[in-house]
Amino acid sequence: MYNKDLTPINRRAWLRSAAAAVVAAGCRTARPVRGGRAPVSPAEGCALPPVRVSADREIRTIAGLRPYRPSGFVVRAEKAGDALIIHNYGHGGGGITLSWGTARLAVDLLPPGFHGPAGVLGCGVVGLATARLLQEAGLPVTIYAKELPPNTTSNVAGGQWFPFFVSDSRRRTPEFQRQLVAASEFAYRRFQILVGSRYGVRWIRNFVVGNEPPPDTGLLGLQSPLRHLLPELRDLSPSEHPFTGSASVRQFDGMLIEPPIYLAAMLDDVRAAGAVIRVGEVFDRQALMALPEKVFFNCTGLGAKALFGDEELIPLKGQLTFLLPQPEVNYATMHGEFYMFPRSDGILLGGTHESGNWSLEPDLAAKERILRGHREFFETLRAC
Ligand SMILES: Cc1cc2nc3c(=O)[nH]c(=O)nc-3n(C[C@H](O)[C@H](O)[C@H](O)COP(=O)(O)OP(=O)(O)OC[C@H]3O[C@@H](n4cnc5c(N)ncnc54)[C@H](O)[C@@H]3O)c2cc1C
Repeated sequence: MYNKDLTPINRRAWLRSAAAAVVAAGCRTARPVRGGRAPVSPAEGCALPPVRVSADREIRTIAGLRPYRPSGFVVRAEKAGDALIIHNYGHGGGGITLSWGTARLAVDLLPPGFHGPAGVLGCGVVGLATARLLQEAGLPVTIYAKELPPNTTSNVAGGQWFPFFVSDSRRRTPEFQRQLVAASEFAYRRFQILVGSRYGVRWIRNFVVGNEPPPDTGLLGLQSPLRHLLPELRDLSPSEHPFTGSASVRQFDGMLIEPPIYLAAMLDDVRAAGAVIRVGEVFDRQALMALPEKVFFNCTGLGAKALFGDEELIPLKGQLTFLLPQPEVNYATMHGEFYMFPRSDGILLGGTHESGNWSLEPDLAAKERILRGHREFFETLRAC
């Protein structure tokens, strides 16, 4: 698969390409953030129960469209007559991860002292986090949304906490880089408050397996600008891991957020805090201006393309196959274009990244490739 914006589009290639601009942009140096971490019982590298990959264990295959902008998400304020629109959309493959963080940046754009009612357009992960921060600041909130959970793109997400596929590193500006790091830091702390079964958030160990380690200055690199958000990051020696046939295995601990559980809990929270929810499409700016609020937060994801005419915004189709749950599997893997997250609603196998593809139909050839890739990978696991 090839994407002119992202270069060869697989997770490993992307990790490599996410390199130099990051450090060149003058990001902060690493400072461990450990406060508030929940107890971790990550899988030990050498005794991993294998995922049982076979077609007859499949329970569903789904696809979703990541709202991707090569230059990255948009958080900015725009005057529209006597109203203010604060945009917060275009999170690509990292909308779950960044949701609380870009919500913080967006809410900080309110005029000082503003306490009037706010309209939030969109009820995916970004709209919900934005609504909660507004409520915490004491503002009455009305959410306007075409679809609610469980019918949003956010419900399709895998839920790994890490800003993958958020932008093309060659298109990042220093200002965007600053926003990315600030949003990641805030969201990382906020999700830690939510660890537990109510929100479906837990810590797990991740293994990045390949022929060579991720580049030093890339987002998963040893000098990543997000290094302080990657506890336990280190390369494993062959005796420390069961992945035979791969020259490089890098581990880190991170959060896994189960979108079906998390989004339902967030929807409950905004309702309990008094949000009014109006279901329906906002068709254009004129319809928006007819609404009673004077401040709006645009959290419409891919919907912002039609609603606000953002030509840079494109779908990045992703497909996932779920196998029967395996509660004993408590680690995540990434190898090449493939990734596995052990969710309670099934073993999630990814994935694809197809630029400009608007179809929500699963592609059977892609499913077979994903199943084969994971079967071959987990067959090589040895006990050590
Ligand atoms: C296969 C796949 C795997 C992914 N894995 C991860 C992952 O592991 N980690 C991660 O962080 N992210 C992941 N993502 C990315 C993540 O799903 C998105 O970045 C995120 O869902 C975007 O959230 P959102 O709230 O902006 O958009 P959405 O969830 O699409 O919500 C948009 C909301 O706006 C509403 N809306 C749109 N237009 C209008 C309109 N005109 N009027 C009224 N309402 C409107 C919609 O109905 C909806 O309520 C993945 C995505 C896919 C597809």
